[in-house]
Amino acid sequence: MGKRKHSLNGSSEHENHEALEKRMKSKGRVSFGDVTIYHFPRKQGFVSVPSNGGSTLGMARRHLWIEKLRVDLAKTSADDQKPFAPISQKARRSILKSAGVRRILKTEERDCAKLRLSRVICGCNCGDICYSETCECILSGIGCQVDYGSFPCSCQPNGCQNGNGRKQYNPSTVEKHYCETFARINGENVGPAVLKYVGVAIV
Ligand SMILES: [Zn+2]
Ligand SMILES: [Zn+2]
Repeated sequence: MGKRKHSLNGSSEHENHEALEKRMKSKGRVSFGDVTIYHFPRKQGFVSVPSNGGSTLGMARRHLWIEKLRVDLAKTSADDQKPFAPISQKARRSILKSAGVRRILKTEERDCAKLRLSRVICGCNCGDICYSETCECILSGIGCQVDYGSFPCSCQPNGCQNGNGRKQYNPSTVEKHYCETFARINGENVGPAVLKYVGVAIV
């Protein structure tokens, strides 16, 4: 019985696959099936650090209901694609309240402020040269890093003596990596022409 069921399923899957391939060939484009959307209740987050305040937006561990939708690409217009923008604390609080969150804990605001501060106070204050006796990074056993100017670390490439290394943020390397990854995803080999087009200097 089990075997028969298996073979029936197998043949119907095969037929479905063939039918799908035929349809795709005749239309000459990719088609999408149904989309399943899981709806979760809103909760106060406690897992993210917003750029200001607390009262972060989170969701419950279990979903409440499931919705099945048919994808209609014709309805997806540029108007639907809103860019991500930060939501103010006031707006976050009203979203939580309107979702039925009765008690918004103030402790999250304090915790987020502490975390934001700890992210700013980091790196070493060595000046141009890092010495093993005084450099906070060397003493903590981590490498130096410079994102911009003298933040987080203040050392210069030729003055850093950190054995754990020193990293400097390089926007052109990041852009080149982005471009190469993007091209790889699209199944193309990125050439110098593409790099020139996106304004990336070839290192
Ligand atoms: Zn450092
Ligand atoms: Zn250093």
